[in-house]
This record gives sequence, structure tokens and C-alpha cells, in this order.
Amino acid sequence: MEINQLYQIFLQSKGVATDTRSIQTKQLFFALKGDNFNGNLFAEQAVAKSQYYAVVDDEELAKDDRYILVSNTLETLATLANYHRNQLGIPILAITGSNGKTTTKELIHAVLRRKFETVATLGNLNNHIGVPLTLFSMKETTEFGIVEMGANRPKEIEALCKIANPDFGYITNFGKAHLEGFGSIEGVIKAKSELYTYLKDNSKLLFLNLDDPIQKKQLAYKNTFSFGSAPDADMQVNYSNNSQTAQVVVKDTLYTSLLTGNYNAINIAAAISVGHYFKVPKEAIKKAIAGYTPKNNRSQIIKLGKTSLLMDAYNANPTSMTAALNSFNKYAAVNKTVILGDMFELGTSAAEEHQNIANLALDMDFEQIYLVGENFNQVKNTDNRIRKFSKFSELEQTLIDTDLSNRFILIKGSRGMALERIVEVLKRKE
Ligand code: ATP
Ligand code: MG
Repeated sequence: MEINQLYQIFLQSKGVATDTRSIQTKQLFFALKGDNFNGNLFAEQAVAKSQYYAVVDDEELAKDDRYILVSNTLETLATLANYHRNQLGIPILAITGSNGKTTTKELIHAVLRRKFETVATLGNLNNHIGVPLTLFSMKETTEFGIVEMGANRPKEIEALCKIANPDFGYITNFGKAHLEGFGSIEGVIKAKSELYTYLKDNSKLLFLNLDDPIQKKQLAYKNTFSFGSAPDADMQVNYSNNSQTAQVVVKDTLYTSLLTGNYNAINIAAAISVGHYFKVPKEAIKKAIAGYTPKNNRSQIIKLGKTSLLMDAYNANPTSMTAALNSFNKYAAVNKTVILGDMFELGTSAAEEHQNIANLALDMDFEQIYLVGENFNQVKNTDNRIRKFSKFSELEQTLIDTDLSNRFILIKGSRGMALERIVEVLKRKE
């Protein structure tokens, strides 16, 4: 089937679905294959539920015209998404980076939606399937698109750029995340910079944080809009403040937020600079940022009886762990404790990176440092402020047995550690 024919079918649909459990009437089903599933096996069910078409790549299934046979459904998903994106012709801003993509995306979305009808990546749908689905969620009435792009291997950002054809781009930072796939920090820089390469090759615009030396190098390219603490930035930002929540000053205007963690000041500055560039009124930007509340255990403060938790259990890698510890260390509070869970996907650097984090935490002003996971359990420190546990269940028992009243506890670990379970443990204690 020609792509424009398939596009007509998409236009008359009620959107795209890849999961029969949630498919709705008149949604166009794409039978995707994963490591543990083959969407083709669900195509019949999909068609029965949606009463619409299914795109499949298994010939045996293509028994009547409700099944659209293609050679590779994933490729067709990308091609169709790109076709749709080009038909829409709206400006699209792509966001990638090691840490802070989703937060920055949400902040920029909050700002831009005050002026444009804006569609942004839902949650964390930032991969080769999520990016097409994000594009499909943009409609004729959409005026602006924001696409989060994630990657854990080289060439992934390049591929996502070819699908989304962004006109603008911002890289939050270059950090030690997914070292397994990227090999080294140089590998991370190279891979994330695929966004810069795409934008430069197409004469598009880069948003740059000039306080990041790697981003600063991009100034040689003429089409940039920069922010940072130095006066040569297009938008100069003053980051100095003592507030417990992240805030910044731009040209005498104070932008406050409900976000904790001083790294969030950079994410906020990025959102303000995008707002300025697209001429969103200053008051609207202020309100957008002040009103944004983080979701999914990202830097959330939770009070349980006499114990306060700073939940950052959504994810962790050496860079975000360091940023979180530095930020928590500056918090004006007594009885500060940290519970840190293993950082995954570090490959051969795992032992060293966990050791570095343990050393860093010990250099800081914490009463108690709980480390949990196979990697953290191997760190060499013997200081009596440190307690190590290889398994969550062991930590759990200690938390139950310890009086945690009047403690302020930072909780951070990789997604797989699911440290948000601590909330339930402490609730049961109450
Ligand atoms: P993912 O790769 O899981 O999609 P992400 O890049 O979308 O992550 P967020 O979900 O926004 O990132 O934030 C995850 C964590 O990264 C935060 O809770 C915080 O600890 C850390 N973080 C956020 N912004 C920054 C930043 N600018 N620099 C360093 N660390 C940051
Ligand atoms: Mg994300």
C-alpha cells in the first residue's frame, strides 16, 4: 500500500494503537514485535475490538482487507509518523540529554501552551515507538510540538530526528547515563550531539546552556539562542539564591517554582529561554513555571508523620546522583539521611561509579547513609555512618527497626530498584 493511502486510513482513524488491551474503536493497530511478544498474534483481536484496520508484517495474517501487509511494521510506523509530521508543517522542538529531559519538556510545555496549542510527549514515551506515537497525537489544530528523545545507543537520536524533523533542539546535559551502550562520556557526547548535527545540517536553531562547556562550543554555529550566567548569553540568568525550591532571576524578574533540587534551576532557565524566544508574555511564563508540579517520584517532598522524604526514586545515574546529593547537601535541614539504590546500566564502570558516589556522600553532612543493591553493597568504606544492604528486604527491616522521626531523607536509585517502596514501608510503621 502506498504511504498516502495508508495516511488516509490514519486520518479517518481515531488514532494509533499498539496494544490490544487499550485499543479503542476505530483506532489503527500496528502489530509491533518486541523481545517477548509478536503483535501480529494480536492483530485479529485488535481488528475485532477496534472495528478498523491493522498494519501487520506477517503474510499469513493478511487474509482480508482489514489487514494491511507491510514488510516491517516498525518501519512503517516511523514512515507514517514522519509523513504526518510533514503534512502538519508545525514547528517541533526536540529535547534530549542524559538527565532532566522529561522535567524540561514538561516545563517548556507548560510555558508554550500559554500561547500555542501545544502537544508534547506523553510521560516518558521517548523511544523509536514513543516518538512516532507522540507525532500521531498531534492534530490539525496543533500549533507546536515538543518531542522528548531518549537514547541508550549511538545513532538512535539520529534516527528519531529523521522521524520528527525537529526545527529546534535542546540538549539538557551530557552525563554519565547508559554508559553500557555508549561506552564512555565521549560516547554520550557524540550520541546526544546527533541532534545538533541534524539541526545544523538543516539550518535549524539550537537552544544552548552556555554554562555547559560542551554546549558553549556550539556557538560557532550561527543559529543559536543561548542562556546562562555570563553576560554574553542571549538571555542572562542569575542562579544565585538560597531558596529551598529552585528559582532563577532573568532581568529583574524572579521566577519561582515548586521544584526542589538546584539542577532544576537550569531546567527552568531552559523553559524561560524557549518562552522568550517564542515571545510568550513574561507573566504567562512566570505563572507556567510557578504552577508546575513534578510527577512520578521526581524530586517530590512527602511527609509521613514526623519523617520527611525527598523522593527522587524515579531514576538514577552517576550524574543525576551527584546533582541530587549536592543539592540535598545544601538544604538547610537537620538530621539529613540519604537512602541510595544501585545505578543500573553502567557496564564495567559500575564498581568505580558506585564507589565515587559513596565517597561523595561521606564527604557531606549526612547523619546516616543507607546504600542498597548488589553494587552499593560492594563499596569499600567502613565509616559508621554507612550501612550497606545487598537486598531491599534487608534495608526494609532496618527501616522498620530504626526510629526515623525528625529525619529528612533523600531517596534515589535506578528505576529497577523501585525505591518508592520505602513510602509503603514507612506508612506501615505509622
Ligand atoms: P529518563 O532518561 O528516565 O527519561 P529524563 O532525562 O527524562 O530521564 P527527568 O525524568 O526529567 O529526566 O529527571 C530524572 C532525574 O534526573 C531527576 O529526578 C533529577 O535527579 C535528575 N535531573 C533533572 N534535571 C537535571 C539536570 N539538569 N542535571 C542533572 N540532573 C538532573
Ligand atoms: Mg524522561
